[in-house]
Amino acid sequence: MLVNATNMLNSAVRGHYAVAAFNTNNLEWAASILDAAEELQSPVIIQCTSGAAKWQVSFQVVADIVRDLVEAKNITVPVALHLDHGTYEDCFKCIDAGFTSVMYDGSHEETFDINLQKTSEIVKIAHAKGISVEAEVGGIGGVEDGVASKGELADPAQCKAIADAGVDFLACGIGNIHGLYPDNWEGLSFDRLAEIKALVGDLPLVLHGGTGIPTEMVQKAIRLGIAKINVNTDLQVVFAKATREYIEAGLDQQGKGYDPRKLLKPGREAIVARAKELLCDFGSDGKGWA
Ligand SMILES: [Zn+2]
Repeated sequence: MLVNATNMLNSAVRGHYAVAAFNTNNLEWAASILDAAEELQSPVIIQCTSGAAKWQVSFQVVADIVRDLVEAKNITVPVALHLDHGTYEDCFKCIDAGFTSVMYDGSHEETFDINLQKTSEIVKIAHAKGISVEAEVGGIGGVEDGVASKGELADPAQCKAIADAGVDFLACGIGNIHGLYPDNWEGLSFDRLAEIKALVGDLPLVLHGGTGIPTEMVQKAIRLGIAKINVNTDLQVVFAKATREYIEAGLDQQGKGYDPRKLLKPGREAIVARAKELLCDFGSDGKGWA
């Protein structure tokens, strides 16, 4: 069932677990993520950046793939289709394409006031159509779709101001970064997370860069108010590893091993298996109806 992300994330805050938001790249990704969520009866968010949408031709194609899969696979758990790190213009494209949730990332605007003002506008328009909205305060380190940032810690007062603009959930930099974490990474700032949580109350908070953070650290962040965890690189790594093993074993050169249905199968199974592990780590398994 395709829904917005508001109820599932509010339930996660109440139940002290987090909902995984997995990025999709194509049909294999979307189908595998849905299989994992349905098997564990977990709510799930499938999200897409503008870069991944371009790869799949358009946001409309992404929306059609996910909507059709949810229906044709008889997926019973709540699924939200979310725009990840959207520009102001991307948000409108996704609203038109049938996404149920959007992230407006105004953290790269010249000033915080511009971020706040544009976020408020998107909230009004999206809410009128029943679409949930994520905003971002403070940069998140690493590079995602060519957008780099220094990864500063989010300012709690700015988080509160954006929360008051009516967003449904909020991404705040707490030392997390996109991509793989360097060996000298200092870890998440739980102090900053607690300061933000104290000001925004029950607003679900979002942890970007969910790949490679030690599980205990993730679970502590969930106890402190993180209710949505973005995972992108992790599934890319397991897909690549499974595909490489298939080719290195020479299986693509045996019989009809070159058939894409055979060639892509190990990667697809690896995505399902890893997504299931993460859903359990985040505690959302069995919470499809919470
Ligand atoms: Zn992100």
